Amino acid sequence: MASRGYRGRPEGGDTYAGKVLRVDLGGMSSWTEPLNRDWARLFFGGKGLGFRYFHDAVPAGTDPLSPGNALIFVTGPLTGTLAPCTGKLGVVTRSPATGTILDCSVGGTVGPQLKYAGYDLVVITGRAPHPVVLVIDDDRVSFREANGVWGRGCHETEFLLRDALGAEFRIISTGPAGENLVPMACLTSELYRQAGRGGVGAVMGSKHLKAVAVRGTGSLAAPDMGRFLEFAHRAMREDLLTDTNLWAYTDGTPMIVGLSQSAGILPTRNFQSGTFAGAEAIGAEAVRSLRVAKKSCFGCGLGCGNFLRAPAVGAAGAGAGAWPAGGSRGEAGAAPGRGGEAGAGPRWPGEGAVEGPEYETLALTGSNCGIGDLGAIIEFNRLCDDLGLDTISTGGVVAFAMELAERDLADLGLRFGDVDSYLRAPVLIARGEGVGRQLGRGVRYLAERYGGKEFAMEVKGLEFPGYEPRGSWGMGLAYATSDRGACHMRAWPVADEAFGSLDPFTGEGKAQLVINGQHQNSIKFSLIFCDFWALSPELMAGFCSVALGREVTADELRLAGERIWNLGRLLNVREGFRREHDYLPARVLEHPLPDGPAAGRVVPPEVFRAMLEEYYRLRGWDEDGVPTPAKLAELGLEGL
Ligand code: SF4
Repeated sequence: MASRGYRGRPEGGDTYAGKVLRVDLGGMSSWTEPLNRDWARLFFGGKGLGFRYFHDAVPAGTDPLSPGNALIFVTGPLTGTLAPCTGKLGVVTRSPATGTILDCSVGGTVGPQLKYAGYDLVVITGRAPHPVVLVIDDDRVSFREANGVWGRGCHETEFLLRDALGAEFRIISTGPAGENLVPMACLTSELYRQAGRGGVGAVMGSKHLKAVAVRGTGSLAAPDMGRFLEFAHRAMREDLLTDTNLWAYTDGTPMIVGLSQSAGILPTRNFQSGTFAGAEAIGAEAVRSLRVAKKSCFGCGLGCGNFLRAPAVGAAGAGAGAWPAGGSRGEAGAAPGRGGEAGAGPRWPGEGAVEGPEYETLALTGSNCGIGDLGAIIEFNRLCDDLGLDTISTGGVVAFAMELAERDLADLGLRFGDVDSYLRAPVLIARGEGVGRQLGRGVRYLAERYGGKEFAMEVKGLEFPGYEPRGSWGMGLAYATSDRGACHMRAWPVADEAFGSLDPFTGEGKAQLVINGQHQNSIKFSLIFCDFWALSPELMAGFCSVALGREVTADELRLAGERIWNLGRLLNVREGFRREHDYLPARVLEHPLPDGPAAGRVVPPEVFRAMLEEYYRLRGWDEDGVPTPAKLAELGLEGL
């Protein structure tokens, strides 16, 4: 369908759309309201604004999988503009994996489409009486029966919905894992872009919402477009497209495999070791040798996506054999992303190839499972993306089950290095079949059931990402204090420690390092800049100034970052989270790494305790990790 063209400039004289779409799935109704501009001034967008809307929309104690939980899609003030690396969409909800507040973001182009449709946020509550697809076509919002796509993989769902609705629609969907309420289910958009962590896909499944399809034909305009474009162009030329960031284009995140291996922090065999004998086979060069195309999110100058020609899996055909008959496999019989349907031309750039895997997937589903077969990892990644599973948590739980077997604690059919059983796991997990039902409940559940708590690599119920804290002590503090459980995207001190010049084996100065990172990323993910652009608060402030038509300073953004982090903590505190939940597993604290540059190291418990106490003190929180009234007043959060 042809674009309906320019529909006028939104009110407000800035780059917000100015409207919030509310959706009640229980009543199958929707309505709009003006954006709360007081909140937008304090929280900007994305993570922060999503947290603020969540606070009022969802009472404390709400079951994450109940109709009362809210699923919030949120853009930022720069989404849809020509500010580079701002094309992502934020998602906020309460996590079924951890019970914490949860925010993720997903790349592609669905975020800008939502903004062009006229919305800064979509706040979805309730549960539909039957599976539906929410269709947002500018100001026309409707519900379609999901009969034809419920039960199908995310890839096929996208193809079917775009065939039915029009190619301009952008889709974000949950897969069979989300429909089956698996707490490690993610959301997928444009086949290989995920809102990955914490079970956001299960929240969507619990609402009987298979997908959201969005088409926006409106426009955005900064108060002074000439000034905005000049600023964006200069920032792209002088800051984005420089050596600091171009690794994302050249190799993308697979280059971290080599860095982690050299630093001895590459998770291997469920974090039993920090180096992997097969690291080269899953590293950047091996990935580059298979590359056939690149891909970027909307308006990104980096284009980190690698489309790979998928090689034969070591145990050939294991993945295809595991594909659920009549489930998420296409009726034409070809798994999307591995060739499409016979006779059809390509329906997606790179079709016939597979996008990814990223570093976290290479580490968690590769070395951490004892798998050095890149073809098998690519297939595992493709299965997870299509079935709607977070590869980090899926890899983590598979590796934990492998160690359970190695130690004769339980036999869930998985062994380190065994490709056949490894490739069956995602399908069983997503479908909740056999051992998949137990695996899908995560590492913490398995440890409670079978033992192995000391090597259960999780915090707050979220499985570890790909950095071994014994070789980067600040990273341990970052995992322990992350708002959504063990996460590398709240603070990434590993860049300064294991990959930089700071001593990784000291707690000195690490509390402030982690705090700085948490504030920086809080504002970055509220403006929804991509993580891969290492831009300064000053540059972010410059973008805000030209987009919003008022002078925004770096200090204002730093304060907003602290405000957002504290609001996240408040949302967790009201659910009962305290100091006892800011922990590290015994393996990290008590069992020295056996090899590599960090051999013989633990994070000594007394150092961890001291870092945590300093962290609370610097934050103005009490010794139980609760923000004090004085701190809340300082941040304008009193009353919450
Ligand atoms: S760097 Fe990669 S993830 Fe980030 S916006 Fe660009 S393409 Fe998307």
